[in-house]
Amino acid sequence: MQSGVKTVSYGSGRITGKLVGKWLAACGLVLSGAVSSAETPSDETITPEQWDGCVVRLQQEALDKGIPSDIVQGPLAGIQYVPKVIELDRRQPEFTTTFSSYITRRVDHRRVARGRKMLREHRELLNQLVKEYGIPAQYLVAFWGLETNYGSYLGKMPTLDSLATLACDQRRSRFFTAQLMEALKLLQVPGVEHPMRGSWAGAVGHTQFMPTAYLKYAIDGDGDGKKDLWGSIPDALTSAANFLNNLGWQRDLRWGREVQLPDGFDFALLGFKQKRSLKQWRAMGLLTATGAELADLDLPASVLLPAGYRGPAFLVYHNFDVIMGWNRSVYYALSVGHLADRINGAGKLQRSPPKDLKRLSIAQVKELQTRLNAMGYDTGNPDGILGPATRTAISAFQQSREMVADGYPRSSVFEALEIEL
Ligand code: CA
Repeated sequence: MQSGVKTVSYGSGRITGKLVGKWLAACGLVLSGAVSSAETPSDETITPEQWDGCVVRLQQEALDKGIPSDIVQGPLAGIQYVPKVIELDRRQPEFTTTFSSYITRRVDHRRVARGRKMLREHRELLNQLVKEYGIPAQYLVAFWGLETNYGSYLGKMPTLDSLATLACDQRRSRFFTAQLMEALKLLQVPGVEHPMRGSWAGAVGHTQFMPTAYLKYAIDGDGDGKKDLWGSIPDALTSAANFLNNLGWQRDLRWGREVQLPDGFDFALLGFKQKRSLKQWRAMGLLTATGAELADLDLPASVLLPAGYRGPAFLVYHNFDVIMGWNRSVYYALSVGHLADRINGAGKLQRSPPKDLKRLSIAQVKELQTRLNAMGYDTGNPDGILGPATRTAISAFQQSREMVADGYPRSSVFEALEIEL
């Protein structure tokens, strides 16, 4: 579940609280290998006096927002500062993630098999949700699988403490203060009990809803009068269906599909912001991954090449954008789509992402972005993230040098820019 940070990324380049939370939730301690354990700079540690002052501010704000005084004097007065949360928030990855390692880690045989089992076990509920909200079963199961491995790991951090710690930290104080206020309101919702637990960044339950989403979209799916996203699978899946429906999911549409690009495909047409109709792509010679013709429809679609021209190509439709509304990472959205297909019986990708692509460091990507910016190819703020703007800039640079313009930061691009790898 999105933590409100609007950055679009391909992988998990920008580690928002939520993304690390997801990693922890979905992959156990995958973090240790992927993330350097930089020490929290001491000047960023809050003093006990600052913490006390902050708690008073939060209590006042809660009262101003009409949160009952028994909650303000009770659970809110009892919040604790959690240094570990700030430590996790400050952790920055040293390396960018390749699509291959991202998707292999998340859509593996075990997660597919378990997803198929969940699909069978919850068939009746899921059929009901398709009828009511228009979200096909395999997608709900795929979100559930990616967020918490089907409820295997809901997170153990005390939510109010985590949110308050982040609210009292200067980096994203406003966002987390707002989430804390929503979390306090949640304590009045039947089914929510104090203390709530979840990811260190405040996402809770089977589908890792942030408090705002919980308040707005949670549904009592099993009809027991409680909205319990921790203890009730029907509540969690119904709430996810309701949320996706509100994000604009289009019934009867796929997320997208793997495709084959024709020889001589113009890579300047890549990127999820460039939309053409399925009809137009079909006319250009794109085929399904197995070589069949695409449907002759007017649906808007974009072409993505997350691992460059040697990797799989995807055509993504409107519902891909909806998945990005849940989590603004292209890799995440592709993983949801692919996992949903696999759960629904499809096989592996026709073309596997190449495994020999070099893992780039954040510093190298920043250097690349700085150079491209200086040459007039706008990558935005050099942040070390291979987002859509950076991919488009790389593609434009590649076109100018008559290289394969797939927007992928391969060694030849670094060589041409004389950046050492
Ligand atoms: Ca319920």
